[in-house]
Amino acid sequence: MTPLSPPATIAFIGLGMMGRPMASRLAGAGFRLRVFDVSQKAVSDFVGAHPSALATASAKAAAEGADALITMLPDGKIVRQAVLDGRDAAVEGLAPGALVLDMSSSNPVDTQKLARDLAARGVALLDAPVSGGVKRAVDGSLSIMVGGAAADLERVRPVLGAMGKTITLCGPAGAGHALKALNNYLSAAGLVAMCEALVVGEAFGLDPGTMVDVFNSSTGKSNATEVKGRQFVVSRSFAAGFTTALMAKDLRTAGDVASHLKLNMPNLQQAVAYWTDADGKLGKGADHTEIFRYAEGLAEEG
Ligand code: NAD
Repeated sequence: MTPLSPPATIAFIGLGMMGRPMASRLAGAGFRLRVFDVSQKAVSDFVGAHPSALATASAKAAAEGADALITMLPDGKIVRQAVLDGRDAAVEGLAPGALVLDMSSSNPVDTQKLARDLAARGVALLDAPVSGGVKRAVDGSLSIMVGGAAADLERVRPVLGAMGKTITLCGPAGAGHALKALNNYLSAAGLVAMCEALVVGEAFGLDPGTMVDVFNSSTGKSNATEVKGRQFVVSRSFAAGFTTALMAKDLRTAGDVASHLKLNMPNLQQAVAYWTDADGKLGKGADHTEIFRYAEGLAEEG
């Protein structure tokens, strides 16, 4: 099959924190875009910035005439509604042979089922979740973890290449989503460890900026210390662009995978409970780096 190079037509559903810059990269690379989001403002803002993109009123309308359809939605249940089960779902508008790429962080067990159900309708699915956050979505250097058939990946490689730098085929359907959830478990664990170390260190009289600098030149270095420490936590700007709610969802996904496989993972289960409680207490829309405020609150209860 010929690779989908510009000016192929891509339907893009979900123009939020990540979807907007990812779709912008596709427009910048010369792909024709048909965009949809339940937020009309998200659609009009995007089309205002990219006049060549076509605003559509449903997932079905976005899918019409598209060579591939990308979802960048909060979770896999919403993806399933938008693509297959809901009213005016994308599958009703897709041409035979079109591919669906779910780039959201969805539950891999649900993805395996979605892949089977779409295949029964003649549509192939790749899961292609991303890591790197808003900053790397803007500069097109995301890490993309792909699950599905190698031939399907080759077909959309130019599309993914406009958004990401590292594209890894992880295995069959669901493999990308499983690896993404496990990656975010590591990311969350590193962030909480840094926050707890900062809370203890500050109480001892250490300077938080000095602490982060020393972690970064020592064995405590992690993505949390390098990318989030000074910028979002020590500064208390808490503006990384990824919510506590989405991180808690990713941890529950990793926990669900372990439970599905009947594996006892006490630290993972503890992380699920910690982030789920933090999500409830920090309030709607809280950035995931505000987990530092949650750690401070727990410390005071001590
Ligand atoms: P977001 O909440 O900012 O964006 C989601 C968008 O989907 C919103 O614009 C919303 O209006 C739209 N939407 C919701 N339901 C819809 C529906 N039924 N049909 C059409 N549009 C709908 O979320 P985000 O931060 O962009 O994250 C999207 C996905 O990417 C999530 O799965 C998240 O876990 C993952 N992710 C986020 C980041 C990050 O740094 N923000 C990084 C990697 C992965």
